[in-house]
Amino acid sequence: MNSLVVPSSHRSIMLMASVGFASLMALGLLSLSSSQGSSSSSKRRTSRRKQSKRRPKVHLRGLYNLGNTCFLNSTLQSLASLSSFNLYVEQCVELLSEGNGDSVDAGIVIQLKEVLDQLEPYDSRVKALSPRNLISSLSYKGQWIASRNEQDAQELFQMLSSTLQAVARKADGSLLGVLNTNQPIGNSFISTNQQQHQTADDRQNKDRRSSNAAPENPLLGMAASRTACVRCGYIEAIRHSTFDNLSLTVPRAHITTIEECLAMYTAMDRLDDFCCRHCSIVATLARIKRDLAEHKAHLAKSDWPSKKTKRIVAQLSEQQHMLEEALANNPEAELKGIELSRPPPSTSTRQTMIARPPKILALHLSRSIYLPTGGTAKNPACVQLERLLDISPFTTTGHISTIASAPISGPSLSASRYPKESLAEVRRRNCLYRLNAVVVHSGAHDSGHFYAYRRIETDPDADPLLGSSDQWFMISDTSAVEVPLDTVLGAGNGYLVFYERI
Ligand SMILES: [Zn+2]
Repeated sequence: MNSLVVPSSHRSIMLMASVGFASLMALGLLSLSSSQGSSSSSKRRTSRRKQSKRRPKVHLRGLYNLGNTCFLNSTLQSLASLSSFNLYVEQCVELLSEGNGDSVDAGIVIQLKEVLDQLEPYDSRVKALSPRNLISSLSYKGQWIASRNEQDAQELFQMLSSTLQAVARKADGSLLGVLNTNQPIGNSFISTNQQQHQTADDRQNKDRRSSNAAPENPLLGMAASRTACVRCGYIEAIRHSTFDNLSLTVPRAHITTIEECLAMYTAMDRLDDFCCRHCSIVATLARIKRDLAEHKAHLAKSDWPSKKTKRIVAQLSEQQHMLEEALANNPEAELKGIELSRPPPSTSTRQTMIARPPKILALHLSRSIYLPTGGTAKNPACVQLERLLDISPFTTTGHISTIASAPISGPSLSASRYPKESLAEVRRRNCLYRLNAVVVHSGAHDSGHFYAYRRIETDPDADPLLGSSDQWFMISDTSAVEVPLDTVLGAGNGYLVFYERI
C-alpha cells in the first residue's frame, strides 16, 4: 500500500495515487544536485570519484511493482541489506527442512529467502525480479494483501517478523519461545521476578535441547518500564517486554533528529489521576483501624456483647494484620476479602527504556496525526538520521533506579558526538549501531509511494566506524541509483529505519 499505518478504527477510505517514477527520479536527482552545490561538496565529489575508481561497480536487482506493492519492494530491499537478518532467515529455512513450521508459514519463509538471495549485489547488470511467489504465499495468511490498498510497510515487516518467530518457536518449544513472542511494548509485561524464573528455566531448556536450539532472532530486544507514585515513592514491579521494532512518535517540528525521537520515546512522563496500590493499602488500613477502634469501644461499653460484634472485631483485626504485612513485605500480595479504599488520585511517573539492545534496531517513525475532525494526516517533519547511532542514553545501562522522581537509569556514559576514543566503549556496551537501510514514504498520509535507501558493503574487512567502504543506493521498485550518504541522512522522510549493531 501507499498509505501510512492507521489503527483500523481510524482508517478512512484510502486513495491510490502513486507518485510517478519520474517524480521520484527527480527527487533523487534533486538531492544529488543539492549536495553538489558548495565547494566543499565539490571536494567530496572528487574524493568520491577517486573512491569509485577503486571500488568494484555494484549493481542491485530491482523488484517489479505488481500493483501498489512498493511497500513490499522497499521493505524487502531494506531487509536484504541486514546481514544478521539474512542469516536468521537462512537458519529458519534449515529448521523447516527438519519438519518444523506449518505450511503457510513455511511457504512465506521459503519464498522470502528466495527473494532475499536474489537481492544480493551483483557485479553486472541484472534484470528486475517479480516477487509474485512471495506475494502469493503471503496471501494465504488471512486477509492480508487481499486488499492491497490497505497495506503498509510496517505491517508487512511485523508480519514477516512474527512468521519467522513462529517457525523458530516451533523448533524451540520452550519457555524461551513464549518469552520471545513479538509483542509490542506495553502489551505483555513480565515482572522482574517472573523474568528471573523464566531465565533460569530457559537455561535448563537450553541445556536440554542444545543440539536443536532455535536461531537467535536479531530483531529481538527487551524493554524495561517502570511506574512510580510520586506521593509515596512506591514503584510497581519493573516490567520487561520484548520488541522487534520500536514505534517512535515523530515530534511536530519542521526538523528533528532520530535521537530526539528516541529521547521522546524514553522520556519520563508524569501522569495525573494515578491510583497507587501502596496508597490504597495505606488508606484502607486507616479505615480499618478506625472501624476496629469503634467496634472495640462498643464491646468495652457493652455488658452483654453480641457474637456478631465479637466476630467483626476478630475479622477487622485479621485484616489489619494482613494490610500491615503487605505494606511491610509485598504490596502486590493478594488481599483476600478486603475491599481496598480509593485514595485521592496522585501523580505517577512512567518511563520505558531499552534493557537489552537487539542486533538489529528497527525503528518505525510514526507520522500519523489525529485531527479534531476525526480524520488523520501525515506529520511531514524532517527526521535527520545519523550514520552511527549511540543508543546508550536510551538504555537502562544495567542499573535501574527505584526513586520515583528519578529516571530509570543513571546519566548516560556516552559522548553523543562520538569522540573516536569513546566509540570503543560504546561498542563494548552493545550500544553502537550503523545505519543500514531506510524505507521512505513520500506523499500524503493516505496516498504516496514507498522506496528504500540501502547500504552495500564493498569491503567486509573495512573498519565499520569509518564508513569508507559503504555504497548507498536509492531503490524504487525496478530502479536502483547510487546516492551519496548525505542524501540518505538528510532525506528526512524516513518511515522505517534499520540500524545494525557493530
Ligand atoms: Zn503511592
